[in-house]
Amino acid sequence: MSKSFFIDTTLCTGCRGCQVACKQWHNLPAEETTNRGTYQNPADLSFETYKLVRMKEPVIDGQLKWLFFQEQCRHCIEAPCLETAGDPAAIYYDEPSGAVIYTAATKNLDAAEIIEACPYNIPRKGPDGALAKCDMCYDRVAAGMQPACVKTCPTGSMNFGERAEMLDLAKKRLAVVKRSHPKAMLLDPDDIRVIFLVAYDPGLYHKFAVASNRDFGISRQAALKRMLRPFRNVVSRLA
Ligand code: SF4
Ligand code: SF4
Repeated sequence: MSKSFFIDTTLCTGCRGCQVACKQWHNLPAEETTNRGTYQNPADLSFETYKLVRMKEPVIDGQLKWLFFQEQCRHCIEAPCLETAGDPAAIYYDEPSGAVIYTAATKNLDAAEIIEACPYNIPRKGPDGALAKCDMCYDRVAAGMQPACVKTCPTGSMNFGERAEMLDLAKKRLAVVKRSHPKAMLLDPDDIRVIFLVAYDPGLYHKFAVASNRDFGISRQAALKRMLRPFRNVVSRLA
C-alpha cells in the first residue's frame, strides 16, 4: 500500500522546523533573503528549497488571521509532470512509497513544459537546467523512517503513513474542525498524496493550493503529448 501525508494546517504554528529539516536532510544551502514585510521566508520555492511555509494575513469576519500552508510537491497519483515527461530516466514513480521522483536527467526535458504541466506550480529549474522538488524523503521512507519534515513537526500538523490511515485521519480531523469552521475542507484528497486540511477558502492560503490547470487527472497538454508519443517515438527511431 502506498504512502500519503496528511497536513492539518489548523495545527501549524509557522515554526518552519519542517522547512529547515528538509534542507538539513537534503544538504541544501540556506538562501539569502531580504525583509519583505512578511513572516514567509524565503519568498518562494526554489531549486534549493523543496519545502516552504507560506503565510498570509487576511481579515476574515472582521478578524486578522494568520494562515500557514506548508507547501511541497503533492506526489500526484496520476502525475501530470511525469505524464508530460514520458521519460522514466528523468521522472518516475517510486513504487513502494508512491513518490514522484525527479533525477538529474530532468535537464534533458523541456523544463518550461514540465513546470507548466504541474497544477500546483511546484518544480523549479536549477542552473544546469535540471528540475528539483520534494522527493518524499523516499530514502528515509525505504528505511522505515518518516520524512524529515514530518519527524520534526512539534505540533502534529504533519502526518505520514499508509494512505488509508491518512485518509481516515484526515476525515476525522475535518469533522472536528468543521464544528468551529464550517468552510473547512480537504484539498483534492482523491488525487494526491499530500492531503491538506484548511479551515477557510483555499484561495486565501495560496493561489495554487488546489489544482489549477487541469480537468483531472492530467493537463490537456500532457494528454495530447501522451496521445502523440507513439508517433513521436517512431519518428525519432527513423531519424
Ligand atoms: Fe508533479 Fe506537480 Fe504533481 Fe508534484 S505536484 S507530482 S511536481 S505534477
Ligand atoms: Fe522535504 Fe522530505 Fe518533507 Fe519532501 S518529504 S518536503 S523532501 S523533508
